[in-house]
Amino acid sequence: MNKNLVTYSIIFLILISLFGFNFFLSLIGNLLLLVLLIPLLILSVLLISFNSLKSKVNTCSQCGTVTFGINNTCMNCGADLENENTNSTESLKKPSETTIEVKAEEVK
Ligand SMILES: [Zn+2]
Repeated sequence: MNKNLVTYSIIFLILISLFGFNFFLSLIGNLLLLVLLIPLLILSVLLISFNSLKSKVNTCSQCGTVTFGINNTCMNCGADLENENTNSTESLKKPSETTIEVKAEEVK
């Protein structure tokens, strides 16, 4: 342990004599900034991506897998998601009306 400390301190002193103390201070400052900023950046990117993807989330009515954005077909079973999604949202909004319509058609 003592040997390691001595060697590290010697290396540190040599480096300070070579680069100067301000260099190390700036280096440490930059490292701290990076450590603080990277999680913030990741969080902001995640939030932005989540908000942009939230509108494009498609759930497959065939198998129930959730696919994001660009693909109009299901990743798992390859079903067409755009048509199914519009159908499912309509049926979710007005389940009673659709059933009533079906019954009325049957009566006619
Ligand atoms: Zn599917």
